[in-house]
Amino acid sequence: MLRGMSAPGIASRLVEAFRNGASVALDLALPATCVGCRREGSPLCRECRGWLMVRVENPPGLPIGVAADLPPPLVQLEWCAPFTGVSRRAIHALKYSGERRLARPLGEAVAARWRRAGAGGDLLVPVPASPDRIRERGYDHALLLAAMAGDVLRLPVSQGLERAHDTAAQHALGRASRAANLGGVFRARAGVPLRGRWVVLVDDVVTTGATLAGCAMAVLDAGGTAVSAVTVARER
Ligand SMILES: [Zn+2]
Repeated sequence: MLRGMSAPGIASRLVEAFRNGASVALDLALPATCVGCRREGSPLCRECRGWLMVRVENPPGLPIGVAADLPPPLVQLEWCAPFTGVSRRAIHALKYSGERRLARPLGEAVAARWRRAGAGGDLLVPVPASPDRIRERGYDHALLLAAMAGDVLRLPVSQGLERAHDTAAQHALGRASRAANLGGVFRARAGVPLRGRWVVLVDDVVTTGATLAGCAMAVLDAGGTAVSAVTVARER
């Protein structure tokens, strides 16, 4: 289902670096610096990874006292950490600085949270990024996260959804416009069987939940049984 997601060979990485320009070339040449504490050695050091695990042992669902704001038709929404500090910097580096090596630790955090809290699901589906953004970055960050999480959880990963038309960059819009901007933009990708599947959506950060809700509706329209979601971070 997800052919070609194993670590790319050095030759193809160099070809990609050439295509994507200097930032990726530097990425290959320089040792990684921790996005959390700037220590050299790893894109996210062991200590800073701890910030992604702050909720890992929490029971599933929302903590008592928090308004029940699970966006329908999702049956479950889980996340690893608040969208602040290390998690925020790591997600920004993955999305905007070409630091794709962060997909591994972030995907592992997603897997750890889902292993603890996930009520069910038999297929991981990344929230489709905009084709323009994928072209700019040279990769699909949500697909990388899902691939890493699926690897740990031993769940299949499939790009089961696509954007029906491109939307204005979400971060440039306010909350209300974000919700309005997402009506009906997702649809099932031809040739990917979602019928009868319990899909677990994977994304970097959930804010209003409108994107996840839009994806969930597309899965159900395609005959999916249920839709859950797990993200690296939650923004409030
Ligand atoms: Zn660190």
